[in-house]
Amino acid sequence: MRTMNIQKSKDLFSEAKQYIPGGVNSPVRAFKAVGGDPLFIKRAEGAYLYDEDGNAFIELINSWGPMILGHNHPAVREAVLHAIEGGTSFGAPTAREVEIAELICAMVPSVEKVRMVNSGTEATMSAIRLARGYTGRDKFIKFEGNYHGHGDSFLIAAGSGAMTMGTPNSPGVTKGTAMDTLLAPYNDLKAVSDLVAANKDEIAAIILEPVAGNMGCVLPQPNFLQGLRDLCDKEGIVLIFDEVMTGFRLSKGGAQELLEVKPDMTTMGKIIGGGMPVGAYGGRKEIMEFVSPEGPVYQAGTLSGNPVAMAAGLAMLHYLNDHPEVYTKLASTGNRLVQGIEETVQSMGLPYRINHVGSMYSLFFTDKKVGDLESAQSCDTILFGKYFQAMLKRGVYLAPSQFESLFLSTALEEKEINHILEANEASLKEISG
Ligand SMILES: *Cc1c(COP(=O)(O)O)cnc(C)c1O
Repeated sequence: MRTMNIQKSKDLFSEAKQYIPGGVNSPVRAFKAVGGDPLFIKRAEGAYLYDEDGNAFIELINSWGPMILGHNHPAVREAVLHAIEGGTSFGAPTAREVEIAELICAMVPSVEKVRMVNSGTEATMSAIRLARGYTGRDKFIKFEGNYHGHGDSFLIAAGSGAMTMGTPNSPGVTKGTAMDTLLAPYNDLKAVSDLVAANKDEIAAIILEPVAGNMGCVLPQPNFLQGLRDLCDKEGIVLIFDEVMTGFRLSKGGAQELLEVKPDMTTMGKIIGGGMPVGAYGGRKEIMEFVSPEGPVYQAGTLSGNPVAMAAGLAMLHYLNDHPEVYTKLASTGNRLVQGIEETVQSMGLPYRINHVGSMYSLFFTDKKVGDLESAQSCDTILFGKYFQAMLKRGVYLAPSQFESLFLSTALEEKEINHILEANEASLKEISG
């Protein structure tokens, strides 16, 4: 195996650190969790990323989810090029916004009206504000290890003891904000109903990732989602599925279609923009009608519904809606990879767990079943760092943290699947021996 030349990336990173905090515009890109310098990417095509030094990598993050059809897909590229000819922003309504709203409502079972925003973070912040405005209540429940973007009220850690309120997870988040965010362990229905009972008629919303991807891939246990649905119905609480990651990925209607539980509201992002900065929140009509200018809850955006971003999103969603075989292909790629990886890791005697659904999976280096944050944190992250580096030098680019899901794209063919499985076997041998 060649040693990899990454001199240009190293030089760019040193320069970047002088002008950009940590050298990156989003923290996990800095490779802090796995060691080494991040790669600077010059371009991407299909299943491959190409860095500034000309190295090629098979991709298993896909821009953290959006590139479900692989990079630079012609349908999306052509739609963007065509849109740009007509101008890049108008700040006035456009036909494309009507078309994408109709399409989202047709694809996602529970969404009757939808508002476009510019990121997943904006979608979840707005959804919580709306749930509060709609119910007239201040508090909401989120789950430990679920990520909903960087809005203040989500950057909250569990306090000591299940019944206490949260505490700020980042300097700059006030104690006052933290007071209204309650935390429960993922997959723990009992903890949620205890919180609800202790805060009777004070809880506006329960928000969760219906399949979690931000503590690694963690699946909801049977009846967890339905149990939350029933509890919310009984208590007049708005159930919000954060499908920024799972939306249009686990099926064309997201996790809610696959798992057959309908939330009151859904937040979307990532795939919805085809690689452009787009988010959205939507749900039941009577809730969405509380949003300004129809209702009293304020939410706005200069670039929301941007024509170029909408063209990219529309091309992506139309493609997924018209090609159900995308999901069968992703499922079979996922099954082959996970099966192959599992056979190898098992034969090496390393502690491991694999969580997998469709085109999302995580290989955890632990012998505990991973169903919540606490069990995810039992992983050997040093071992993961070695595995990451071993895969990278064999041309496979994984998410640079144990606590991320991997995302497959339809651009992975026979050749790439075999390459990944060979790299996996060699890497696991290297780190276990
Ligand atoms: C990525 C993500 C977000 C945040 O989206 P951004 O576009 O990064 O702001 C929110 N929720 C979930 C579940 C995510 O995976």
